[in-house]
Amino acid sequence: MASVETNPLHRFGTLPRFDLIAPEHVEGGIRALIESLSGELEELEANLEPTWAGLIEPLESMGERLGYAWGLVGHLTGVKNSDALRDAHAAVQGELVVFGLKQAQSRPIFEGLEALQAGPTFSSLELPQRRIVENLLREARHSGVGLAEQERARFNEIAAELALLGTTFSNHVLDATNAFSLMLTSPDEVGGLPESLMAVAAQYARSHGEEEATAENGPWRITLDAPVLIPFLEHGIHRGRREELYRAYVTRASHGEFDNTIVIESILALRHELAGLLGFANYAELSIDSKMAASISEVDGLLESLRSASISAAQDDLETLRSFASGKAAESGAASQVDELKLWDVAFYAERLREARFDYSEEALRPYFPLPNVLDGLFALAQRLFGISIVSADGETSVWHPDVRFFRVLGERGDPVAAFYLDPYTRSSEKRGGAWMDECLGRNGRTSGLPVAYLVCNQTPPVGDKPSLMSFDEVLTLFHEFGHGLQHMLTRVDYSLASGIRNIEWDAVELPSQFMENWCYHKETLLGLSKHFETGERLPVELFDKITAARTYRAASQMLRQLYFSSLDLALHASDLKEAGEDIFSVQRRLAETMTVMPPLPADRFLCSFGHIFAGGYAAGYYSYKWAEVLSADAFSAFEEAGLENSSAVAEAGRRFRDTVLSLGGGTPPMDVFKAFRGREPSPAALLRHCGLVSEAS
Ligand code: ZN
Repeated sequence: MASVETNPLHRFGTLPRFDLIAPEHVEGGIRALIESLSGELEELEANLEPTWAGLIEPLESMGERLGYAWGLVGHLTGVKNSDALRDAHAAVQGELVVFGLKQAQSRPIFEGLEALQAGPTFSSLELPQRRIVENLLREARHSGVGLAEQERARFNEIAAELALLGTTFSNHVLDATNAFSLMLTSPDEVGGLPESLMAVAAQYARSHGEEEATAENGPWRITLDAPVLIPFLEHGIHRGRREELYRAYVTRASHGEFDNTIVIESILALRHELAGLLGFANYAELSIDSKMAASISEVDGLLESLRSASISAAQDDLETLRSFASGKAAESGAASQVDELKLWDVAFYAERLREARFDYSEEALRPYFPLPNVLDGLFALAQRLFGISIVSADGETSVWHPDVRFFRVLGERGDPVAAFYLDPYTRSSEKRGGAWMDECLGRNGRTSGLPVAYLVCNQTPPVGDKPSLMSFDEVLTLFHEFGHGLQHMLTRVDYSLASGIRNIEWDAVELPSQFMENWCYHKETLLGLSKHFETGERLPVELFDKITAARTYRAASQMLRQLYFSSLDLALHASDLKEAGEDIFSVQRRLAETMTVMPPLPADRFLCSFGHIFAGGYAAGYYSYKWAEVLSADAFSAFEEAGLENSSAVAEAGRRFRDTVLSLGGGTPPMDVFKAFRGREPSPAALLRHCGLVSEAS
């Protein structure tokens, strides 16, 4: 085992030596680090001075070293997974949780923070410093450290029980999903399905005892996994099978041995009790306490204004779909089939209508978006907007896979600002799905540390001589993650606990990422980064027009669905159901009356598989998706108002965006940051307009 001195996980402050790091560094390296940090923590607890230098700087330094080492392990688990790495990760994870709790629930540190806040030096600290202290105090309070002994014991009991219930909830969803399948044998049951789905379904069948199964002749095993279920509902012609799948899906984990009903009731009751211990009226108030939104009623107000702006358009969407569906049915001589459009018909006819209206396929766009050109266009946009240059620096440092690129970001005077890695292609054998931005190093003014980011995507790899040809969605994803990366890299906050994306409220953190996506619908930007890999042609304007038209297709229906989930999440967490004499399903039915245009089935139990709020981090926070979308659309509208063709006005707005949203990080309250950029509070008008929900004239 490597000694502490040579363990590459301990080289904090330098670019990681990916050529040296191996799974065998993890257990020893992390344990040694925890041991020395535990010593430092005890030392700090015994001797702390309630000043910035005496308390926060040691915490900052401990957090940075642990963040670097454990961040590297987490990063490699995501991009270069192996059994050895997974085992090493699992072996030390529990010890890290224990150490984290020890720090979060440290009485001396909590009292030191309180003394610092009440002391004579506090008012002379800079705003980001004060905000760091306030947020550390809030986190400590939310972790129960301020409670009297008996209450704290109950708090810890509840926290432990909630962790178990969250796991039970997820396991039930997983087990219930696995317990259901349809083995289809007749070709008419799989009519309409894409070839790719038939191949997957045959493969599923083979791994379940049907060794002879083929994509052409079946049998085909259909499950409730999203990549199978969704295309089946969108393309499967067999209406009876669609109904069967739909019903199974919305009743998942709601009956039998994997029933989550009682699990949910327990989770909600315990969360309510936990919030009460901390002095909040309900769990939603506890959640909102650390968010950008000021109150539940403010969130409710936003949700209601979006609902009233989208409900009639969503009804129109439904009417359009109804008449389209009956027309289609008449055409095919199956009129009786869709006398009445049912819930399991919606996705199917929505896809047929989409095909009829915007006849282009994602595949037809790919040749216009080779990765090298998309990157050139993205970097040119960053230069126009923010005055930064991005230069390739491949080979200057080691990487974890030959496809990974390394770039440096330079400021207007050519000064080094930041750096990032880009790992673009899917590598299913060792890389997690999805796309993300993560931190390698954060900015620290005291040590002159510059930020370094990881941008990870899962896009189509190059084949033969062809470059990676990106779908439009893949272009959007790259812009999105780059937006997160910009906020991490262009921060000017000197204090690492609030630099970049750190310390930013959950409901505000998607602002820069979604903001960048807007540029993919800007003609000059999108045409500018497109270049047919064979002919060199730019994307034809007709195709661009179809992309922008498709953006608003059924936007009101999608908006309403998200609002329904958001409101239901808040309603469940904002009251004591027992006291109110309601159960979770009666709350659902009550909200569905105003928030859906097609009422859910009486048997609908989708709450039983709503993992975001019962097993993820979104409890009383699902609204964050829409909240951040309002911010990002409104931010983009500042550029629209300036005139997107006016390059000097765009550059001016871009510099302002850089100097506010991208620079101030978690050091300034997000509402102040937004107002500094926009000159006023956010308004949902731009989001509604981008969704096609108000006329251009209004
Ligand atoms: Zn994001």
